[in-house]
Amino acid sequence: MTVRIRLHDTLLGRRVNLSPRVPGSVSIYVCGPTVYDAPHLGHGRTAVVFDSIRRYLTWSGLSVMFVSNITDIEDKIIGRAAREGLTESEVARTYEDAYWFEMDRLDVLRPDETPHATQYISEMLELIAELIEKDHAYVIEGQGVYFDVPSYDGYGELSNRKLEDLLEGAGSRVEIDTAKKSPVDFALWKAAKPGEPDWESPWGRGRPGWHIECTAMSLLLLGEAFDIHGGGDDLTFPHHENERAQAEAAGHPFARHWIHSGMVMVGGEKMSKSLGNFTTLGEAIDAHGGRAVRVAVLQTHYRAQTELGPLEIEAAGKAVERLDALARRASANDLPEDCATDTASVNTFSAAMDDDFGTPAALAVVFDAISTANSAIDAGDLFTAGTFAATAFELAAALGVIVKTPERGDDADEIDALVLKREEARASRDFAGADRIRDELAQRGVVLEDGPSGTQWHR
Ligand SMILES: [Zn+2]
Repeated sequence: MTVRIRLHDTLLGRRVNLSPRVPGSVSIYVCGPTVYDAPHLGHGRTAVVFDSIRRYLTWSGLSVMFVSNITDIEDKIIGRAAREGLTESEVARTYEDAYWFEMDRLDVLRPDETPHATQYISEMLELIAELIEKDHAYVIEGQGVYFDVPSYDGYGELSNRKLEDLLEGAGSRVEIDTAKKSPVDFALWKAAKPGEPDWESPWGRGRPGWHIECTAMSLLLLGEAFDIHGGGDDLTFPHHENERAQAEAAGHPFARHWIHSGMVMVGGEKMSKSLGNFTTLGEAIDAHGGRAVRVAVLQTHYRAQTELGPLEIEAAGKAVERLDALARRASANDLPEDCATDTASVNTFSAAMDDDFGTPAALAVVFDAISTANSAIDAGDLFTAGTFAATAFELAAALGVIVKTPERGDDADEIDALVLKREEARASRDFAGADRIRDELAQRGVVLEDGPSGTQWHR
């Protein structure tokens, strides 16, 4: 397959061709959540962005290996466990379950591999040993093992920071860990503290630092020089900078490309707990549905900041409803189901996605196809309608926006009869009678849609 996908690579700071390590297949690692709290909209955005990229690459004919981790040991998990009198694994399990529950509601596909940090301790220890061996890490008795940042020349390349500036910033902070060789050095292995979970290591009992977890797991599961490392752009520094430094300093070529998704804003401000505009993903999905949240995410380019307040998600919900309405009309009008897709639309869609995963333009192709299909149904041109309906459904699915197939239910015949009775009432200008039937149906959760080709209903 010829290379045609271009992406913005954070490391190079520009668009490059995606040229996979193995032609025809793409390996992706995306940093997953630290499971200590309910997932918020930022987690939802990152997951939807990379799920859509994964789905599109697959739809384009590439074979995709997608790995996304769960950080199940980290300071915040330990803190929550201590506060609530639970074990760390109880906290991690609870919030991992909550995470997958919301991912399912967003139609995010499960990763091919979901490494949990606590299952890969020995691989992390091996990597730390390599770094010590190569003089890129050192032991501080009673504290742990630290990465020697100034010993690695490439430090700062990913996040576009200079070591001098970082040193200057770190030096002006009040708390300086004097035992470290340099204030910018970070922990690879943290010595055990009373009451915290720990593991045996050549440097005493302790637990891994967060950054070494992702480096060890991504290299193990995807191999050196895997294709794409992704995550939210708040992870670029220090997490991804450190992940890369650890791998490269140990002599393992790391990710070939880096992709970062932008921040989520609510009401024009960065979403955060301290600002009080923190919306959990579950609340947003409860209110508007997972597909509305997904479309709201995809309506902004993944690198841009996005506003994901109730208004944006509600508007996206209306767009999703247009897709479902077309599915109902297609079924009611017996559109041919085996129609080929419209080539021009598919090409425009692919061009948008190949250009750094331009989901806003790609979604526009889907909604144009919906309009064309609806006009064709109105005009009685069922072949064109079938072609554009098939195009809309196919391209929406390529982005993970799945059409809900109409559910008729056990009382469908009865409802059909009531809808017919209401049409007769309207035809004889008995509008009060027609409204009574509409209200009765509404009470049963049935919504009526009047159109040129008659009345459709759905729940
Ligand atoms: Zn990570």
